[in-house]
Amino acid sequence: MKIIMLGAPGAGKGTQAKKIAAKFSIPHISTGDIFRANIKNGTELGKKAKTYMDQGLLVPDELVVDLVVDRVNQEDCRDGYVLDGFPRTIPQAEALDKALAELGQKVDYAIDVDVPDENIIRRMGGRRACVTCGATYHLEYAPTEKDGICDTCGGGLILRDDDKPETVKKRLSVYHEQTQPLIDYYTNAGILKTVDGTADIEDVFRAIVEILGA
Ligand SMILES: [Zn+2]
Repeated sequence: MKIIMLGAPGAGKGTQAKKIAAKFSIPHISTGDIFRANIKNGTELGKKAKTYMDQGLLVPDELVVDLVVDRVNQEDCRDGYVLDGFPRTIPQAEALDKALAELGQKVDYAIDVDVPDENIIRRMGGRRACVTCGATYHLEYAPTEKDGICDTCGGGLILRDDDKPETVKKRLSVYHEQTQPLIDYYTNAGILKTVDGTADIEDVFRAIVEILGA
């Protein structure tokens, strides 16, 4: 069960990836985690990645693919894995397919957690963070007892820059430009499955489990 998660930032694909991993006892693999692990363990790939990151450069696709392929070759990935946040672009997807083919493997499912931009902008715009202790809330889904005041420490609440509509819109436009073509790519490969990400977390998960035939 080799799964790729697709979906815009804020669509909830990370949450679903973790739930899939837990239910099917397969690793949840994010590129951030792979980078950190390789750098921490001082592997050759980690050292290479670090030279780019130290210069504030993007790690090149071939190196990212090497890191991912090295990870999915490990023993705990024998029964499958959930890739979260990779591939992000068509060249990465092609490189991954090629590398997996050399191992006699292929991706089984690409699951797109589909949420319209306006829902994502609204969701993010409702987030609030405490300026004092960093606790996070949501006006709609996780409100504080008293308006604008942190339940934990009484501090004031703000909408963080990352959650502001103009920031979210920018991230969404990068996503559509780079990652949306992957939806066509995996549709052509016959493995794209779309779930309605506007439903609540458990309903989205139920839909995914059904797709995975479990
Ligand atoms: Zn607080």
